[in-house]
Amino acid sequence: MDSQNKLVFFDMNQQTDILVIGAGIAGAGIAAQLAKSKRVIILDMEERPGYHSTGRSAAMFAMNYGNDPIKKLNRASWEMFQNLSPTFFPHPVLADRGVLYYANVDSKAHLDELIASADDLDFLSAAEAKKLVPIIDENECAGVGFERDAKDLDVAALHQGWLKEAKTNGGIVVCDAGVTAAKYVDGVWQLETSQGVFEAPIVVNAAGAWADEVAQMFGVAPVGLVAKRRSIATLPSSHPEQSHKWPMLLSAVEDWYMKPDAGSFLVSPADEDPVPPHDVFVDDMVLAEGLFRFSEATTYEVTHVDGSWAGLRVFTPDKTPVCGYASAVDGFFWLAGQGGYGIQTSPALSLLAAHMVLRTSLPSFADQELIDDLSPNRATLTQ
Ligand SMILES: Cc1cc2nc3c(=O)[nH]c(=O)nc-3n(C[C@H](O)[C@H](O)[C@H](O)COP(=O)(O)OP(=O)(O)OC[C@H]3O[C@@H](n4cnc5c(N)ncnc54)[C@H](O)[C@@H]3O)c2cc1C
Repeated sequence: MDSQNKLVFFDMNQQTDILVIGAGIAGAGIAAQLAKSKRVIILDMEERPGYHSTGRSAAMFAMNYGNDPIKKLNRASWEMFQNLSPTFFPHPVLADRGVLYYANVDSKAHLDELIASADDLDFLSAAEAKKLVPIIDENECAGVGFERDAKDLDVAALHQGWLKEAKTNGGIVVCDAGVTAAKYVDGVWQLETSQGVFEAPIVVNAAGAWADEVAQMFGVAPVGLVAKRRSIATLPSSHPEQSHKWPMLLSAVEDWYMKPDAGSFLVSPADEDPVPPHDVFVDDMVLAEGLFRFSEATTYEVTHVDGSWAGLRVFTPDKTPVCGYASAVDGFFWLAGQGGYGIQTSPALSLLAAHMVLRTSLPSFADQELIDDLSPNRATLTQ
C-alpha cells in the first residue's frame, strides 16, 4: 500500500478546485490530467486505490474489442500509449501478446462477421492456429482471427504512474474516504466522508460500479449502469517453458478466454451475470462451466485450479461509457461505464474528459459523433 494515500487526515473542511470520486484507473487518469492546471483531490472509499475493477482486469489491449465509440478511443489510446511521459512511466506499459479469436463450427459465422468488420484481423486455419497455441484441438477448431498487435497491459504501472503524476502536480489522494452525502451551497459542492467534508465547485464521478448510486447523492438521475461479474481462474500452464509467448485465446462469441501469464493460464468463463455493486467474488459453478468450454476447445485437461478472482465490468445500456457534465445539475461530471475496456481506453478517455471538465478545446480524435455517443444526456440511457 502507498502509505501517502492513507495518512492524510483533515479536521476541517478541505477546499479544492475539483474533487474526483474514485481512485481506479478512471479517477487516476483524469486526476493526472487535471492536476496539471487545477488543485485536485481524489477520494476513495477503500483503503488503497485500485481495489475494485482496476485491480482485477485481464490486462489486455485489443484494438478490435468493443463497439464503434470504444474503437475510436482504442485507436487514440494506442498512439498515447506510445508517448507516455518517461518521468511517470519509465518502462513500456504495453508488451507483445496477440489475440486469436477462436471459432468452432457453431461460432464460425460470427468469426467471419468479426473479421469482415475488424481492422487487421487475419483468418488462420485450425492447423495454423495450433502452431501458435499448441493446445488448440484441431478437431474442434473451425479457424481463428489473429490480431497480431493486441498487447499485454501493465495495469499497475499505468495506474500508479497516473497517481504519481497527479501527486507530483499537487494532487492529493485520500483513501478510506467514502462519499456518503453531498449538498450544493453557493456554487460549491460539499461532500461528506468519514475523513471530513471536502468542497469544490466541480465533482467528477469516477466511482465505477457505484457511479449511479453516487449520482443520486447529488440529485442526478442514474444512467442505468449495470455491474456484471467476470471471473478468472489461474491454472498451471501445460507448457510452462513456452506458453508465456503464446497469444491469448478468446472465443469469438466471448464465452471463455485463456491468457497465458508467466507459468500459468488465466482462464475466464467470460461471465456477464448482473450483480449489485459490491466486493464481488467467484461463483464456482459458473467458473466450472467456463473451464469446461475451455477444455472442450483444447487438449488441456483441467485437473486443479491454483486460484481465482472476480471483478465487475460496468456497462451503460448501450455499452458506451458516459463522459460529460450532467445537464440538469451544476458542476457534476460523469466518467463511468467503461465496461471491459476501461484500462485500454483510459489514456484517450482521461484526456478527453479532462478537456471537457475544463471546457478547453478538445483533442483532435474527439469528433462531434464521439462526444454525442459519450454524452450522459443521450437518449439511449435510462434516466
Ligand atoms: C475480470 C475483468 C477483466 C477485465 N479485463 C480488461 C482488459 O483486459 N482490458 C481493459 O481495458 N479492461 C478490462 N476490464 C475492465 C476494467 O477493469 C474497468 O473498465 C476499469 O477498471 C474501470 O475503472 P474505474 O476506475 O471506472 O472503476 P474502479 O477501478 O472500480 O474504481 C472505482 C473506484 O470508486 C470507488 N468508489 C465507489 N464509490 C465510492 C464512494 N461513494 N466514495 C468514494 N469512492 C468510491 C471504489 O472504491 C473504486 O476504487 C476488466 C474487468 C474485469 C472485472
